[in-house]
Parts: sequence; C-alpha cells; structure tokens
Amino acid sequence: MMKRLSVVLVLLVFSAAALANSVTNVRLWQAPDHTRIVFDLSNEVDHRVFTLSNPDRVVVDMTGTTLGGSYADLELDDSGVSSIRSAQRDDGSLRVVLDLDSELTPRSFVLQPNEQYGHRLVVDLQRDDRTSPTIEAAREVRRAETDGQRDIVIAIDAGHGGEDPGAIGVRGTYEKHVAMAISREMERLIEDAEGYTPFMVRTGDYYISLVRRRQLAREANADFFVSVHADAFTSSQPSGASVYALSDGGATSTMAEFLASSENQADRVGGVSGVDMQDMDAMVREVIVDLAMTHSMQEGLSIGEQVLQRMGQVTNLHRRRVEQAGFAVLKSPDVPSILVEAGFMSNPRDEANLGSQAYRQRLARAVFDGIKDYFDDNPPPGTWVYTQRRNANSFDSYTVRTGDTLSGIATRHGISVNRLREINNMNSDVIRVGQTLRVPNG
Ligand SMILES: [Zn+2]
Repeated sequence: MMKRLSVVLVLLVFSAAALANSVTNVRLWQAPDHTRIVFDLSNEVDHRVFTLSNPDRVVVDMTGTTLGGSYADLELDDSGVSSIRSAQRDDGSLRVVLDLDSELTPRSFVLQPNEQYGHRLVVDLQRDDRTSPTIEAAREVRRAETDGQRDIVIAIDAGHGGEDPGAIGVRGTYEKHVAMAISREMERLIEDAEGYTPFMVRTGDYYISLVRRRQLAREANADFFVSVHADAFTSSQPSGASVYALSDGGATSTMAEFLASSENQADRVGGVSGVDMQDMDAMVREVIVDLAMTHSMQEGLSIGEQVLQRMGQVTNLHRRRVEQAGFAVLKSPDVPSILVEAGFMSNPRDEANLGSQAYRQRLARAVFDGIKDYFDDNPPPGTWVYTQRRNANSFDSYTVRTGDTLSGIATRHGISVNRLREINNMNSDVIRVGQTLRVPNG
C-alpha cells in the first residue's frame, strides 16, 4: 500500500513540472547585423516583445514561465546589450529586460523542438541595415579590382553556425567550426591569388538562413558560390570528401538525397525569422521563372568536376563523380554553386583529419585550385583574368625597326619584358631590325 502511494506522488510532481514553463538555458549569438538571444524552454511559450525608451530597453514577457537558467555566462561585449535582468511578475509571467547601449529593433519568433533542441524563443535585435558590416563587406567586394579590371569573386559559405552546430563528431567536433576553419584557409588562398577576391558569407559564429546566404553572395556580385560542410551519416562507415551540385529533379544517390534533406533542415535548427521566409518565397518565384538556373547548374557541375579532381589528389573521395540533389543553399538562379563535404564527422578517421590544420589547408587549396582551373579557362568577360587570358592567346605581329629595344616594345604593348620574351620563346634581349615579334592583340 505504501509503495503504491509513493508512485502516485511522484507522478503528481512530474505532471506539475510539465505544466509550468521554465527557461532552462539562454544563448547569445552575434552576427554582423543582429544579436540573437535564444531562450530554451521546457514548453511552448506565449510571449510578447516591446521596446521602452529613455533609456532604450527591450522587454520580453513570457506567460506562466519561471527562470531556471542564468544569464551570467553570456558574453555581452559588442552585442548592443549592456545587461540582462528578469523578474517574476504577480500574474506568473517572467519579464526579461534587455538594457541596450545602441539602437536595435527587436524581432521574435518561436522554434519547435527538433533533434538538437526543445522549444525555443528567439529574440533577434536588428541593427540598422545601412550600417550592417555584412552589406558593407559585400559592397567592398563588388569594387574589388586588379589593375583596374574586375576580380573574379568567390563566395565562401561556411555551413551552419550559431544556433546550428551542424553534425557533431564522435569526439565532439562541431561541423560549424570545421567548416569555418576550412573556409578561412580558402579565404587566405584567394586573397593571395591575382585577379580573385574572396567573399565570406558567414564571418563568425552565428546562423544565416539558407536563402540569405545566397542573397549575400549575389549582393557581393559573386561569380561562384561554394558552401563548405562536413556532415554525418547514420553509420560510421561512409568516409571521404565529396562534391555536390544542385539538381532540378531527383537526387543521384541515396547519400546525396540524405545529405540534401539533412542540410535543408538547417533553418529549423538555426532559426529563421518571418522576414527571411518572405524572402524565400520571392526567391523561389524568381528561380522558377529564371531560365538562367539551368546554365548555373551546368556550370556548377563543370566546376565541381574540376574541384573533385583536385581533391582526389590530396584525400580519399567518397564518390568519384559530382553528385546532385536539391540543396536549398545552392538554389541561386544566376550564381553557379557547389557544396563541398570535406568528410564525414560520423567517421572517426575523417573527424581526426578534419581536426588537423595541415589537412584543412590541403583540402582548401585543392578546392580553390579546382575552381581556379575552371575560371582560368573560362573567365567571365570584363575580369582581369579574362584580359590576361585574351592577351595570352591572341597576338599581332610587330616588325622591329631601327632604334627599337625589347623593353621599349614591351612597354608600348603594356606587358613586361619577361612576358614578351616568353611569348616569343626568346632566351636573350637581342633583336634585329626587320625581325617579326608576337605582341599582344589590341
Ligand atoms: Zn552541413
């Protein structure tokens, strides 16, 4: 009899706990254009958000909620929030007050539980768009030039970020950090390559919706978009790097289908606000009407093949051909794109490799070399690489006159003496009157 009673008591306690909502944890993520505060909750929450001025504050009221976590560990530096405090109100609600030290516009939404998290309330504090460093960076890239001619812009998209860790390895490695480390290596290589400019879509540990990633690349006038990942599979067996391109129909393999569907879940984990959703609708309409999509897809495939070939020289490949599936992040009508899976976080050897800087550098170089192989052969008109290529391939002939020097001829045709010697297969600077030389066209 006593035994039965204690069971009933335990059940009562549990159901009471289930009814009351509680904030179990709070996270803060800083993006260039907003600060995101995420409240983990034990249940779905009714809430309202409003602002107060003098001094500027954002107030978040959560109905029937208590505070189970703490704000102590949050790093508020440069977040625009100077302090966070909260109080239990008489009606049972929890009032959280965010004291602001700059002008921010709040936007809030709730997220449903998924594999990684339970119920969440997201409060984004938006900076004024005109001063957004991300958009500034995109403008900067648009102007990037070498010798007065446009650079080829490569948008590098480090997958996941912030609220979305991506795949988590057996040793606890987060995909979002691996993706960022490889992306940073690529950024350095591209910065050093003449005629090329990198654009980092994500610059820190925060989430960007899949549609926004494509938009940022377009704002930067990117010629190419490469999304960097290292996902996991349900078994530890699959290993090796792979390259994926967009498909307009089905997937080319079950792995491609599996990865595309898990990648496309990112917005549910990372958190996408209503504004991004509206953008997505507009984008989908655009994609459907734009025939350029097919061209971008083909170009993505061609570039993907070059990248895969280069990667095959430095690491094991999961598949020897470019796979295709409906990756949302690749659905840009006019920017060709690929998604690189640097390896499987679910495979212990791959995870160990991805944790090594030397390996990440090798991989980053292979990816960029592959992209460069393509663009060096197919440079977009108007770019510095295009002009170099044209000069290298088309020549006029020039007949040497009295008083000519090799350096004088080179200067008049806008090339170096070395280059002039090179295109004429010369070993010395000696020229004779009446001799015919190859010089750049135009
Ligand atoms: Zn991923």
